[in-house]
Amino acid sequence: MPNRLTNKVALITGAGSGIGLETSLLFAHEGARVVCADVNQDAGTAVVKRINEELKSEVAVFVKVDVSRESDVKEAVRVAEERFGKLHIVFNNAGIMHPSDDNAETTDEKVWDLTMNINVKGVWFGCKHAIPAIRRAGGGSVINTASFVAVRGAATPQLAYTTSKGAVLAMTRELAVIHARENIRFNALCPGPIRTPLLMNFLNTEEKKQRRLVHVPVGRFGEAIEQAYAALFLASDESTFITGTDFLVDGGLSAAYVTPEGSTTTHSVHGNYSGV
Ligand code: NAD
Repeated sequence: MPNRLTNKVALITGAGSGIGLETSLLFAHEGARVVCADVNQDAGTAVVKRINEELKSEVAVFVKVDVSRESDVKEAVRVAEERFGKLHIVFNNAGIMHPSDDNAETTDEKVWDLTMNINVKGVWFGCKHAIPAIRRAGGGSVINTASFVAVRGAATPQLAYTTSKGAVLAMTRELAVIHARENIRFNALCPGPIRTPLLMNFLNTEEKKQRRLVHVPVGRFGEAIEQAYAALFLASDESTFITGTDFLVDGGLSAAYVTPEGSTTTHSVHGNYSGV
């Protein structure tokens, strides 16, 4: 019987799809009780139903949350404590990449503000309301989802997204230092390109997919479950000496040497470097 999160309570944002969905399932199967938060009610409800059916127990609950609204995030934390007693783990994972996100000259202010509101302010709200709750629980772990683009520039422009993920890294580091003595850990998960709706909707042709894969040494997209396992490690007591990290789970992308032609390998496949 897996038990890496026995007696832990976790709040996961963006639980309805991709990385958040796989992490919700994995955490529950590892013994956690899980508050699944998402702005998409149907998707979030479906995840909770699936978890509770698979485990034959009411270990998951859905809360409709738009992470850019402070009152929603506050309510999710309240539900976690009311329903399950304590809160030990918060995975601030919800994020968007707007289809009109572009370069410095062409990105609309509305797209910029929306991206920052969800990807940065949403993570801050998650931390802001998690901290007192985790303190009440005696300590715990916060994981904020950034991206490899926070440490590597993306030549296919998505300036608001990339900037937002850089902010998540900076926020996470400072929080880690400030709250280290309180036994509250903060780490930033930095996924490489992952086969989820967020990326596959963006790389919507085979050519675009192949162009992206040129930069991934392992030669394939990551799977959401591979991020979930990394989040599980960061959430569990196996990582109690790890805080303030940029935790790269990227198939070697950030370690790769990118030639001016855009290839990390000796293959003759050329393309623009781009990221999420
Ligand atoms: P996804 O689109 O599959 O899932 C995102 C989920 O977040 C959806 O269920 C969506 O409804 C929810 N969401 C969106 N806006 C929200 C809001 N305002 N409030 C609450 N929920 C909201 O995406 P994913 O690929 O699983 O991405 C999860 C995180 O991982 C994001 O922060 C993303 O930026 C990051 N990331 C993804 C990749 C990738 O390649 N897929 C790479 C690096 C980082």
